Amino acid sequence: MVDFGFGILEEQKIDLDKAENSLFRSLANSRPEILTCIGCGSCTATCSAGVFTICGFRPAILMLERGMEHEGLSMVKSCILCGKCSLVCPRGINTRGILMDIHNLTLGKV
Ligand code: SF4
Ligand code: SF4
Repeated sequence: MVDFGFGILEEQKIDLDKAENSLFRSLANSRPEILTCIGCGSCTATCSAGVFTICGFRPAILMLERGMEHEGLSMVKSCILCGKCSLVCPRGINTRGILMDIHNLTLGKV
């Protein structure tokens, strides 16, 4: 590996295999398509609620994968389930369906 003269601090490393991300794992279990996300951000760029709020599918999923459940759920709290994000996803991920699962699995948490 090329040595660029800098690295990641040990305390800033996120080991996804060790992260406490049970919500993400259960989503991935019921909807494995979530694992095909390439993080392009099209869903977030087109989000209806994102114009007025921090709503965004991509950052929310990244947070949930890292085990940052509170932050991730905050980012979809204002989702209005319009489904625009599903229409633009290049991987054909049913983001709206996943958002509905998140809402159903976390009712009362946010
Ligand atoms: S549009 Fe699809 S592939 Fe792109 S970040 Fe969103 S969910 Fe992932
Ligand atoms: S379904 Fe939710 S996350 Fe997707 S575009 Fe609509 S408001 Fe945004």
